[in-house]
Amino acid sequence: MIACSSDRSASSNPLEDRVDALLSQMTLEEKVAQMAGNTALGADYGRELWNVPGLERLGIPPFRMSDGPRGVGVRDGATAFPVAMARGATWNPELERRVGEAMGRELRAIGGNVLLGPTINNLRHPSWGRSQETYGEDVHLLSRMGVAMVQGLQQYVLANPKHFALNSIEDTRFSVDVTVDERSLREIYLAHFRAAVHEGGAASIMSAYNSVNGQFCGENEVLLRGILKGDWGFDGFVLSDFVLGTHPSSALNGLDLEMPAAAVFRTLLTQVQTGEVPEEVVDDAVRRMVRKKLEYGLDKPSPVDESVIASDAHLALAQDVATEGAVLLKNQRSVLPLDVSGLTRIAVVGSLAGAINIGDTGSSSVRPSFVITPLQGIVDAVGDEVAIDQIGRDVLGADDLALIAAADAVIVVTGLSAEDEGEGGIGAGDRLDLGLSAERVALLQDCAAANERTIVVLEGGSAITMADWLADIEALLMIWYPGQMGGEAVADLLFGDANPSGKLPITFPTGVDQLPPFDNVSDEVTYGYFHGYRYLDRNGSTPEFPFGFGMSYTTFSIENLRASQTEARAGDVVRFSVDVTNTGSVPGAEVVQLYVAYPGSAMERSERDLKGFAKVMLEPGASQTVEIALPVSELAYYDVSASAWALEGLEHAIHVGSSSRDLPLSATLTVAAQAPVSVY
Ligand code: BGC
Repeated sequence: MIACSSDRSASSNPLEDRVDALLSQMTLEEKVAQMAGNTALGADYGRELWNVPGLERLGIPPFRMSDGPRGVGVRDGATAFPVAMARGATWNPELERRVGEAMGRELRAIGGNVLLGPTINNLRHPSWGRSQETYGEDVHLLSRMGVAMVQGLQQYVLANPKHFALNSIEDTRFSVDVTVDERSLREIYLAHFRAAVHEGGAASIMSAYNSVNGQFCGENEVLLRGILKGDWGFDGFVLSDFVLGTHPSSALNGLDLEMPAAAVFRTLLTQVQTGEVPEEVVDDAVRRMVRKKLEYGLDKPSPVDESVIASDAHLALAQDVATEGAVLLKNQRSVLPLDVSGLTRIAVVGSLAGAINIGDTGSSSVRPSFVITPLQGIVDAVGDEVAIDQIGRDVLGADDLALIAAADAVIVVTGLSAEDEGEGGIGAGDRLDLGLSAERVALLQDCAAANERTIVVLEGGSAITMADWLADIEALLMIWYPGQMGGEAVADLLFGDANPSGKLPITFPTGVDQLPPFDNVSDEVTYGYFHGYRYLDRNGSTPEFPFGFGMSYTTFSIENLRASQTEARAGDVVRFSVDVTNTGSVPGAEVVQLYVAYPGSAMERSERDLKGFAKVMLEPGASQTVEIALPVSELAYYDVSASAWALEGLEHAIHVGSSSRDLPLSATLTVAAQAPVSVY
């Protein structure tokens, strides 16, 4: 017997009644036709909306889909936002909600109604080729950003969090089986998907290519029917990852829609007719899709027109995000911000300075009508005031070095590009060496040797190791792939028109030896409970730059931690407050971070887990009380023996500060043991 959680025969809800009425008028053939896209793999693949047929005679609209983690991929000229990793670095879910709204608006304007994003796979290892598409390595940060994006998008279109689940190796993505224990699965790899479904209200989910615990995600009964549709009560629909994501047991095990066209599902009709697949499976799938079509008004004309595409407001938003997502990692002798009035001549160096470098060329790519490169941004910012030597090469000659030596400051724009990392098969795939190329390392070393005022603007989608050049340079600004307005943001940050406020959403290790193994060759890998900062904390390793780290041109004090209660139980929400003061001389934003530790726990737990954060903008000298809410259910662990969430009776330690390794304030929170507890 198939558990069809959305079966609502006793419904009295008008929406469900409409859905039931439509379903009862559909033939089996018509229903099965709803379960696969009908877009051919032709020349326009990815350049036109993917279509999933509706049913005109009953007024059921089609789905019209586009890729989207960094903008509406299908439309030339759509706004290219910074990649999700840059947006994760903003630690600003409200901004992310606005990015979601903007992408949703642009998609709706061109007649689309499902955006294939956000990508919320937990970044287990920075070698993953698609690291840039997700928000980071921490389940709480992923939850907050994922929920914000889903809610923003769903003002206009349906969101499609992906890839469910444990998709974080590229080169073997079609074949790898990830073995994971149930506690790690629930706490580390699925909790943010649960948030996207419950809190975000995601209308759909995309399954992953890879297999988990022996079954492909596209036919994984435990993931799809058991956890997503069963435990979480998800009432939306699941679509396959494209072309190779559907398998023989997919329909039976909970996949509702094969994309981009019927291949495996070509035999579905016969399978139902011969009784191999019960008709109720088809009914459940179609009910889920029709429900969301009606719920989101896809049968109504779009109120949005194409003037929103790359509108001034969207471009300004893209620039704000690029600015807020940049992370200042080093600033010796406060070399930044540069004071234009004190400069006569600067050198802007590196092949990436004037290059369009906005991320992977795989499915997440976006084709904006223009891109402001860092070089362009710098040129525009300094105008005639400062002479610029543009040295757009990575291999320097003697003349170049002479110019560099003579400059008042050197800005080297370097890092990674789509040639180094990206989607498997259609992009560069995984990145096993986390360092820069030998050429780019030499570039940095040579510049630093020639001019002690060497400032590095670093591009890339994930962690970069830098032991061979970091000590030589004076300042380092990580800008990720900053989208089409990135150059403006870079100039604002370099010249002090904006103050960096990004924080790392991932750990920057000193080397791969600090990380769990990354195997993109074998078809069998095992994921455990620890990766990212939790892995380094557990091993007592000191990273190059810790999770949550990022500097500012001003300074902050964070003081006076207090709690609304010191004892709590399931269902409570404890409120922690601190007073934050901008103790420097320019306006700036600080991200206050709250971590929980479990001293005396009988379980294997993290040294500390991020459980809350808040970003606050302050004028010089200004103070503000910042509150972080901690729902006690966030402290629960998954008790595998009871198949339920439970709270350990514990005096939890609460640590607050400005990064995972700078947590000067502490408090305790005593929680009584309780099981089971609801985490929803
Ligand atoms: C990717 C998905 C993407 C789909 C459609 C797949 O290869 O894994 O993220 O949405 O293609 O382009």
